[in-house]
Amino acid sequence: MSDLSNKPTFGLSDPELLPGAGDFAGDGRLAVRDPASGALIAQVAISDAHGARAAVDAAHAAFDGWATTLPQDRAAILHRWHALIVAAKEDLARIMVAEQGKPISEARGEIDYAASFVQFYAEEALRPNIEGVTSHLPDAEMELWREPVGVAALITPWNFPSAMITRKAAAALAAGCTVVIHPSAETPLSALALAELARRAGFPQGVVNTVIGDAATIVGEWTSDKRVRALSFTGSTEVGRLLYRQSADTVKRLVLELGGHAPFIVFKGADIDRAVTEAIKAKFATSGQDCLGANRFYIQRPVYEEFCAKFTHAVDALTLGRGMDDPDIGPLIHERAIDKQQAHVDDAIAKGARLLTGGGIDAGLGKLFYRPTVLADVPDEAAIMSEETFGPVAPLTVFDTEEEVIARANATEYGLVAYVHSLDPRRIYRLTRALQFGMVAVNRTKVTGAPIPFGGTKQSGLGREGARQGLEAFTDIKYVCRDWG
Ligand code: NAD
Repeated sequence: MSDLSNKPTFGLSDPELLPGAGDFAGDGRLAVRDPASGALIAQVAISDAHGARAAVDAAHAAFDGWATTLPQDRAAILHRWHALIVAAKEDLARIMVAEQGKPISEARGEIDYAASFVQFYAEEALRPNIEGVTSHLPDAEMELWREPVGVAALITPWNFPSAMITRKAAAALAAGCTVVIHPSAETPLSALALAELARRAGFPQGVVNTVIGDAATIVGEWTSDKRVRALSFTGSTEVGRLLYRQSADTVKRLVLELGGHAPFIVFKGADIDRAVTEAIKAKFATSGQDCLGANRFYIQRPVYEEFCAKFTHAVDALTLGRGMDDPDIGPLIHERAIDKQQAHVDDAIAKGARLLTGGGIDAGLGKLFYRPTVLADVPDEAAIMSEETFGPVAPLTVFDTEEEVIARANATEYGLVAYVHSLDPRRIYRLTRALQFGMVAVNRTKVTGAPIPFGGTKQSGLGREGARQGLEAFTDIKYVCRDWG
């Protein structure tokens, strides 16, 4: 068994010793592999349906105590968790590289991002949770109380193995909910490390419960359990629909952060060099495995050839390699992902696209390293123009008018984020109004963070995470009307 690349220093180095692994675990084991090399990193003890129920038992038993803990005391524990995550940044980043493969700089950045949610919601825990209402009845006074809903189930993917956990858990915990967490099978170690730090921060027994195991079994147990009052899921639209249906019988509060298919639109008159720099970030961050990843590039005709040439030049300069060597792009998560890149590239070329660079794996590095790829003149009928690619392939296409590009950008069931590059304020205003996406980024790529409500329209999901709005799914409103007459 290979160990984690370099020895972390504070006791998370041997995942088999992580206390969280054993909380609800049985005899089964999950093999965790390094996507860069295929090497076995760890065997994690996993739970079955019985363990999943036991986690809800623990969370349910702890709920009344946590819900009535004074907000300043909840905030103090969240602040301690935040401090422990910050102190463990290097270890957490290396664990992430080992099991997820992303470049170490990106992993460090994700830990900062993950920690920022814990700090933000530690502060939000102190904000007023009672609101007055101007009375419409004589002699009555009215208030809205925000109360925690109960046990919240949090289900997270492998592409952001730490931040997706803290974005959900910090909000739920600040609101006064207890949580059961199911991380992706590809990245259980990051989840167990966060669970161990939560234990050290002093969350009372049963407040934070992490369960590793077969997703359908564990999450199926939770969706059918009426004690689980909220479910927050980040992952594919396909699994999101399934959980939506499964949650109907017990009418759970839902947050669904699902797939995306972001358009990246460049108008003539835009700063083309800047658009290229931002396009590289929008496409290749997290090796293209990002729900915010630009999945189709619409370039206005007068600047199309210039953009194609400069973008391809920039892509050719990107480095591909193992996460600990800190390249621009790391391995993809599994072979299914490689197959999807190749299928999208082959399909686009068969339908008339031109391959400008890339277009296959770098076999010298390993079978999960897909070379950054640019396709030009990609027709709308190509699968890549409507299906999420989730990898380092950029399809470029030309457009003529604003109306045309708005229609093509909106012609998708996804609605997470859209990127626009233009220096014309009136055009930017019209585009921002017309694009049917939960987030619109103008002349930049990185727009997310703890203070903003992250989320999509259409089949990109329901609800928002981050910001004050991120508390909503974890609280119910109790309307109180008192009459002293
Ligand atoms: P996925 O839907 O396959 O899995 C996500 C999580 O769901 C994992 O923990 C998995 O174990 C669990 N799961 C899988 N099958 C399940 C089932 N039958 N029942 C219950 N749970 C199940 O997604 P993924 O491949 O891990 O992640 C990539 C997807 O996530 C992409 O579509 C991406 O766009 C999306 N994503 C969205 C956001 C967002 O905030 N909108 C962020 C990151 C990723």
